[in-house]
Amino acid sequence: MVLKMYVAGVAVAAAIASTIAALAVPAAHAPSAGVLVLMTALLWLTEFLQVRQYHYRGHGVSHNLIEGIFAPIIYACSGTEVVLVCLIGLSAAEVLRRTGPIKTVFNVAQWLFAAAVGSLVFHAVTVNNDGSSSRVIAGVAAATIAMSVVNQVVLVGVLSLAVRESGEGHTRDVQMSGLIGRLISNGASLVTGLTLVAAFRWSPWLLALGAVFVVSLDAAGRAHANVRADGHRLEGLQRATHALATSLDPAQALPTFLTEARVGFEVREAELVLFGLDETVTVHLSHDHLRDGYAVTDQPHELAALLATTIHEASHFTTERGPSPEACAALERTAHGRALAAPLRSGDVTVGMLLLYDRLGVEGFESGELVVASALARELLGFFERVDLMRAIDEERRKLTDILESTSDGIFTVDSDGTITSWNAGLVGMTGYSATEMVNTRHLGLLRARDAGGRDVLVERWQDCIDTTGLPSELQIVTSTGQTLWLSCSYSRIPASEGRREVLVVVARNITQARELERLKDDFVAVVSHELRTPLVPIKGWAQTLINRGDRLTDDQRRTAVQSILAQAQKLESLVLNILEASRIESGRVDGEGLADVGSITMRIVEDTLAARPDRILRVRPPAVPCQVRGSSVWVERAVANLVANAVKYSPDDEPVDVTINVEGDEVLVSVTDRGPGIAPDSQDRIFERFERLEETRTQTGTGLGLYITRRLARAMAGDVSVSSVPGAGSTFLLRLPVAPVTRLPEQRTIESANVVNLR
Ligand code: ADP
Repeated sequence: MVLKMYVAGVAVAAAIASTIAALAVPAAHAPSAGVLVLMTALLWLTEFLQVRQYHYRGHGVSHNLIEGIFAPIIYACSGTEVVLVCLIGLSAAEVLRRTGPIKTVFNVAQWLFAAAVGSLVFHAVTVNNDGSSSRVIAGVAAATIAMSVVNQVVLVGVLSLAVRESGEGHTRDVQMSGLIGRLISNGASLVTGLTLVAAFRWSPWLLALGAVFVVSLDAAGRAHANVRADGHRLEGLQRATHALATSLDPAQALPTFLTEARVGFEVREAELVLFGLDETVTVHLSHDHLRDGYAVTDQPHELAALLATTIHEASHFTTERGPSPEACAALERTAHGRALAAPLRSGDVTVGMLLLYDRLGVEGFESGELVVASALARELLGFFERVDLMRAIDEERRKLTDILESTSDGIFTVDSDGTITSWNAGLVGMTGYSATEMVNTRHLGLLRARDAGGRDVLVERWQDCIDTTGLPSELQIVTSTGQTLWLSCSYSRIPASEGRREVLVVVARNITQARELERLKDDFVAVVSHELRTPLVPIKGWAQTLINRGDRLTDDQRRTAVQSILAQAQKLESLVLNILEASRIESGRVDGEGLADVGSITMRIVEDTLAARPDRILRVRPPAVPCQVRGSSVWVERAVANLVANAVKYSPDDEPVDVTINVEGDEVLVSVTDRGPGIAPDSQDRIFERFERLEETRTQTGTGLGLYITRRLARAMAGDVSVSSVPGAGSTFLLRLPVAPVTRLPEQRTIESANVVNLR
């Protein structure tokens, strides 16, 4: 509003000054109509070409010779002619340049005002001139300066108002560079003006020379502006491509790239639209008005989508003319006037679009810039290909690392000079030495590797072996905690390649347990064959005796014979059942359906044990309540029988064994207490492992399977077995099984044996 009023004020000032000039300044040289037309045309040309503004990062420069062109007009014409020539010439120029109405009024009024003042000043200086050239020169100089001052004052006023309205911040810079440009062009105008006046005095038609000045200056201005702009643009674009070349992280490279491209191309806004494979669209945007100048969004982009199907090469277009009417309309909807679009083409597919909107200053995009934009698009494509490649490499590396780190096998690599180059997590777990302790060192000797024969093995000197078969497949090593481990190792050489030495890859598997199991199994076979044979000797012996001399034996002797046969047969049966059960458990064939009455099963076991060993004392405390558990009766029988058999076997013959059965909470507890040698605390866990037998009890026969089976069966029924023992005083084994809902009270059984002390 203020701006419009200011323009109106300038127009009024111009009208007043024009009227005064028209009235006060008579014709000095009365140019012919043809010369007046020439003057008008010259003025038109000057104004038409005059604005050659060059903008870069807030700096602006403009050149024109209009005061110089006005000089011969003011020199030759009356005030009225000056006003007319000015009005016609300038209006025509503004119309042709399609300047907006307000700006047209302002431009014409501004120069009308300046020309009228110039005409009055010239007239004042040269009035009553007797034809002396010095007065003319002084008049032209004074008029030129007056025009320039008027023009400058009016311009500064309008500029400061325009700047205040648009709210832009770099006015001082613009004004300063504008002022410098104006001083330069004023000097040029003065020289031009004097030259043209001199030419006019020689012949009025020589005024046509003015066109040469104007066109030359315009061409020079254009060239200068182009060179400067190209220089800056090149720098900006270099920085943009540098951003892509020095980073593989789009989040880091793209903001710099877009900002530099925006500044380099001198555009208001730069966008990079990327079309994802899954129809997703990512828009990277650089604009001065954004915080940090950059933003990224995931939104459909209408213009880019339209252009992707219509253009395959960089092109520039406006809201009026473009690759398709739809694209022009879409550009209009983005609130931009012009755009330069460069597609990112991968093969035949457009994967993205670089968009540059609205060139700063009055110039549009130039064709040469399309080549640069295409080059930038190619750079971007290369960048994304590099990023993708890097991602794929990273992914592969991550997979490989995951495999290496998650495998329980130990994997390490040793250089030809014995330096460890990698050490995976499996090895850390196995040896206790971390990767930081081992990698890039020659500390393989810490493992004190030996072969099966106990000879030292120097794996780090692997190159001395003719081939890897020279290295033992099984190694014994010592861990960081001093534990001995057996490793099964496989070796492979990776031949030397560019810049890398030959490497030995060692894959090691911990076979300590497997070796131990192997040893225990060997023991077991020996023990079992012995165990199976041992009961057969008394069975055969007694049976033979009964056959040969049965009728001569006393009743007591016969009973002893049969009891011995029975006891040995029970041992055999127990042994066979344990072995069968162990193999069933190992093969996973466990089936715990049904209900078992723990009380009656235990009582029967005690009865059977007593029948075979009438010399022993077994004291039983039967349950006060029904003790049913969910599970197989055979399992419960096996579990309890093993505990009772061990108590009898490992305690002295004259010591009693106590068996109690009761219910506590929702568990049935069977405890078997003996007064045998007991079990040391550090062996109490071990005895439940397969084939484990304690050294102290080796005088007794056994397989090391009973407790293992008992625990496995108890756990299969959701229970467990544990031991508490005081070495030298005896042991108590406690079997716990979850109680099942009672259906009926178990039939009470009493054991009819003199040796059973029924505590109830
Ligand atoms: P086995 O009795 O056939 O050797 P078990 O698995 O039943 O196998 O027992 C494993 C080992 O646990 C036995 O060899 C013995 O050393 C120890 N052990 C088991 N029960 C007792 C006990 N009541 N008192 C002392 N040691 C026992």
